[in-house]
Amino acid sequence: MDRPIRSLHHVTATVSAAQEDLDFYTGVLGQRLVKKTVNFDNPRVYHFYYGNERGTPGTIMTTFPYGHLGVRPGVHGAGQITETSFSAPDGSLEFWAERLAFAGVEFTLEDSGFGEEAIRLRDPSGLTIRIVESRSDPRPPWPKRDIPDAHALRGIHGVTLTVRDPQRTLAFMSDFMETSVAGEGERGLRVAVNGDAPGRLVEIVRDENAPAAVNGIGTVHHVAFAVDDPSQQLALRQELVRRGVPVTEVLDRQYFRSIYFREPGGVLFEVATIPPGFTVDEEVASLGSALKLPPWEEPNRAVIEAALPAVRAS
Ligand code: ZN
Repeated sequence: MDRPIRSLHHVTATVSAAQEDLDFYTGVLGQRLVKKTVNFDNPRVYHFYYGNERGTPGTIMTTFPYGHLGVRPGVHGAGQITETSFSAPDGSLEFWAERLAFAGVEFTLEDSGFGEEAIRLRDPSGLTIRIVESRSDPRPPWPKRDIPDAHALRGIHGVTLTVRDPQRTLAFMSDFMETSVAGEGERGLRVAVNGDAPGRLVEIVRDENAPAAVNGIGTVHHVAFAVDDPSQQLALRQELVRRGVPVTEVLDRQYFRSIYFREPGGVLFEVATIPPGFTVDEEVASLGSALKLPPWEEPNRAVIEAALPAVRAS
């Protein structure tokens, strides 16, 4: 099998209130809400998917807004994705600095650790987000009236894993996922998944003194990597079983199929299929406009809708 992992697929986080989450990712960052559904494991909670026009794998950030259920804030620490980076065109950080300031979002300017300019900020739930400049990101942005295309975010740039022993994580990724090292910096390693373009990057940071991560509000739950089809996913699953790595059965997530497992540093990884995608139950033009439920939850629609907080498009 020749490098079955294509790119990142999505990043999924546990967040606070649904409306402020929508307002931030669509209103401030200019992402498209491509799917409004529920957490298939807990339909009292929304599952929002943000991305480009079609929610192309590698552009997708997804959130579970748990704020109305009294879930506690998580702990940022080892065994976790501690930063989610978005890709911005070269020369656009001045625009983003002004836009964030206007929206009342605090931020700092920094070097990405690998030579790019970057902005670091916290989203409304406390997730660490970076906007990283990229000289070559050909992915088309989702057009938004008040964000010129020349500045619009192109999708996920990459994620940062914090672990106590980067070598174990690196060895697993290079051996099982056929990744390569794209850079070494003061902060750690940059690993390329099927090439080093934005949307295909994982940074590994060592922190021996970090507390053990605890999932909760304001933390990333997992990162998913994209494969072309279910047969590749099954082959990867068999390989995990062969290595003795605990892995879930294949789960039907309606827009993709998923398996989940932990890399040696404790970070939850998912392998998700690229098909069928977000147009399986909505037209491209109307993606994200209606609450979509998987077929097995449709009989419960009235109860589910009554329990979810009301939200308006941002
Ligand atoms: Zn996922």
